[in-house]
Amino acid sequence: MESGFEGGCFCGLLRYKSHESSLAEFCCHCRDCQRKHGSAFATGIATLKDKVEITGEMHRYHMVADSGNNKYHLTCAVCGCPIGEEITEMDNVLMISAGSLDNPALFKPQAHFWVSSKQPWLALDGRIPEYAQQSE
Ligand SMILES: [Zn+2]
Ligand SMILES: [Zn+2]
Repeated sequence: MESGFEGGCFCGLLRYKSHESSLAEFCCHCRDCQRKHGSAFATGIATLKDKVEITGEMHRYHMVADSGNNKYHLTCAVCGCPIGEEITEMDNVLMISAGSLDNPALFKPQAHFWVSSKQPWLALDGRIPEYAQQSE
């Protein structure tokens, strides 16, 4: 995404906005992402955390990734809508969930991660790289 983005939760109390372009955009099919989003995969937009303005109250749920990294699942404290994730070991990076964008069509994934746990009924079209786990 080149020119900034904004979005928020279902109830509208938690909002975010950035004027920066994204660092990376991807889909993740790992079991943690499937479970925490209640879906087949998660979408992630990596952004510079200190460039994102956030208003409203966020709930932070601590999880430990298979890699040993500490991550926080970020949801609206009122309606529970997931808006992203923070990984403690990735300084100044905030992952935004693309479904929370005001215009989700801005999301342009560059890779699929963890296709080793991709759901069998989901067919990918091969236009972007697929990784069995995570790329470097
Ligand atoms: Zn909300
Ligand atoms: Zn994942």
